[in-house]
Amino acid sequence: MEKTTLSDEEWRRQLSPEQYHVLREAGTERAFTGALNAEYRDGEFFCAGCGSKLFESQSKFDSGCGWPSFSAPADNEAVTEIEDNSLGMRRVEVRCSNCDGHLGHVFPDGPPETGLRYCMNSAAMAFEPKTD
Ligand SMILES: [Zn+2]
Repeated sequence: MEKTTLSDEEWRRQLSPEQYHVLREAGTERAFTGALNAEYRDGEFFCAGCGSKLFESQSKFDSGCGWPSFSAPADNEAVTEIEDNSLGMRRVEVRCSNCDGHLGHVFPDGPPETGLRYCMNSAAMAFEPKTD
């Protein structure tokens, strides 16, 4: 798949201000405000910037942290993990592999299968319910 690379101006045109803030400025939406935090239907989560598939509903769990949380990405290639030492914290940033959009962070306190909690911003994703 071809990588998505747009200019800053193109991203601003394509994304809502909130999506732009999260994806392109590594912003974080306020806890419990995201549309997908309480989304538990069967389906798939896509990057709001480029449409790449990021997560599947089977790996979503209620972490109580206020952001959509997943135990694993849909595919190891779907996301890129980068060490982030901003705000005086050591965290691992998660980005969309295809468009480099900021999605959230991954923490080592997830459920047993992987031990990981992918803490994502709703604004960075689009959800498509399964229709069968
Ligand atoms: Zn993307």
